[in-house]
Amino acid sequence: MVGKVGFGGDNPIRIQSMTTTNTMDTSATVEQSIRMIEAGCELVRITAPSIKEAENLKNIKEELLERGYDTPLVADIHYTPKAAEIAATLIEKVRINPGNYADKKKFEELEYTDEAYYNELNRIRERFTPLVKICQTHNTAIRIGTNHGSLSDRILNRFGDTPLGMVESALEFVRICEENGFHQIILSMKASNPKVMIEAYRLLVVKMEEEEMNYPLHLGVTEAGEGEDGRIKSAVGIGTLLEDGLGDTIRVSLTEEPENEMPVAIKLADRYKNRKGHKTIQAVSPNPINPFEYTVTRSNAVLNIGSTNVPRVISDYSMRDKIYPCSLLNIGYIYNRSSDKWTLLDTASDFMFLGDNELDFKIPGSLGVIQNYKNWQKDIPNCYPLLRLSSYSEFSEKQVPHFLQIEVDELNDEVFTLLKKNPQCVVVISTNNQHAMPHLRSGFMQLINNEVKNPVIIFRAYQETFDTETVQLYASIDIGGVLNEGLGQGVWISSPFLSCCKRNSLAFGILQATRTRISKTEYISCPSCGRTLFDLQETTAKVRARTQHLKGLKIAIMGCIVNGPGEMADADYGYVGTGNGVITLYKEKEVVKKNIPSEKAVDELIDLIKQYGDWIDLPV
Ligand code: SF4
Repeated sequence: MVGKVGFGGDNPIRIQSMTTTNTMDTSATVEQSIRMIEAGCELVRITAPSIKEAENLKNIKEELLERGYDTPLVADIHYTPKAAEIAATLIEKVRINPGNYADKKKFEELEYTDEAYYNELNRIRERFTPLVKICQTHNTAIRIGTNHGSLSDRILNRFGDTPLGMVESALEFVRICEENGFHQIILSMKASNPKVMIEAYRLLVVKMEEEEMNYPLHLGVTEAGEGEDGRIKSAVGIGTLLEDGLGDTIRVSLTEEPENEMPVAIKLADRYKNRKGHKTIQAVSPNPINPFEYTVTRSNAVLNIGSTNVPRVISDYSMRDKIYPCSLLNIGYIYNRSSDKWTLLDTASDFMFLGDNELDFKIPGSLGVIQNYKNWQKDIPNCYPLLRLSSYSEFSEKQVPHFLQIEVDELNDEVFTLLKKNPQCVVVISTNNQHAMPHLRSGFMQLINNEVKNPVIIFRAYQETFDTETVQLYASIDIGGVLNEGLGQGVWISSPFLSCCKRNSLAFGILQATRTRISKTEYISCPSCGRTLFDLQETTAKVRARTQHLKGLKIAIMGCIVNGPGEMADADYGYVGTGNGVITLYKEKEVVKKNIPSEKAVDELIDLIKQYGDWIDLPV
């Protein structure tokens, strides 16, 4: 229980978020909290960087109560145990980061003997136990919130910057709680890379079971960014775990106003409200996939699909009445009439599916065409048929590359034999099961166990009248969850309610979020909070405007020097607020330029990227 709100057990998945105002500005924090609560936030987190902010939580709490809002509040604590101890007497929950609660980060590699390690644990016990006792007395809950990238030197030395290190970092603190008979605990394992956070949460659950613990989980992807990319990344990470049946409360971190996070979080949580009645998925044994470590399952190659090729994108034009050359603009192909040449964007689809439509113009050489078998224009180069199992026996040209659409429930020994006999067949795997991600995953597991090596395209159709954001979130979960397991050689999204352009962008966004195919710059921007020292949204927009052509580069824009450097984890460049109007620039984890006035900082960042040879001039 956090105040009057229950977490875990049979409670619904709870929605939470964090304020971005200065905690000392009571009125602004109260107003923002109310906007968040009105948007559906069930738990409001507020930063308490020092004792004075922790004390001001009392005023914020009182004003919210006076205005009729009894939503529980959480204090977000880094480095200042005293602030946690004060906050725990005033509000319903305290979040601590085990990587910095009792450890000052020195960014040093130290050798720890067993004795030194256990002495450190004793020091932590002494530092943390007073907070546990205060929480016990005041019935205050604790979130032990590990972040990838802000692990202590001790943990890094023994476990590395790994999911296991993240899990152990939290469990050290949980064990101290349990020694004191304290169980009002919620745990989180956040990372900006969805793969890392998925592996860490799964591992945490296994480790908790080994130690007979069963605490609720708070799910989140840190620094997910903004707009479509932020939504896709959050859904890939949070949704994959919800599909696994893990997660009791969620926070979607967007570099936008906090009230914008709630509709996204509510859509994610609502998807699981009635999940109990889904069609049964047959158990597959043995499990050929390691859920705790990302490993790519390689297929054989057909055309440019499979083997070591990046996953391919298939754009669905079957719902159009007619296709024109200009239609291809939506999927990344620009035709220049005067030179009679096509220019390809980094997000150009690899294949287009025409259904029963005919092709009557010359397409770019790099674009493949797929048509329904009965309308297949086999004399057109790069044109391939799509078959169903029912018509497969009629198809006599099996030496030609072709596509075969199969439902997971159609897989059986006969199909496995047929696929093994026809190495030029690309499988397009689909499901109508409401529990799509695990159902698709079970299909891949069956194919692996039966040694089928044909490449497989992951197909999902969204026929319902979903809005754009809902399709973005659902596809990110269903397809992204499978890609996160190292499965699948391509992506095909079908939805009559989304334009070709949006579906193409979504497919490339999912591949980017799962880091299976990089086609754009990645921005790791924190959601901002009361510690933020500049306008994050405006700065992110400025950095994006200048750098969005730098495909593959990871640029972090972080609000403060306290947590920013730790949480930007694997960024190539970092832009971090250091003080009022001052920025520090990082190349990976190294500080390279300090105390730059913010008016000059974006230019200096560009200079730095040029200096390290990562800059590309835009074509004139
Ligand atoms: S990195 Fe951003 S969200 Fe995290 S504490 Fe600093 S300002 Fe707040």
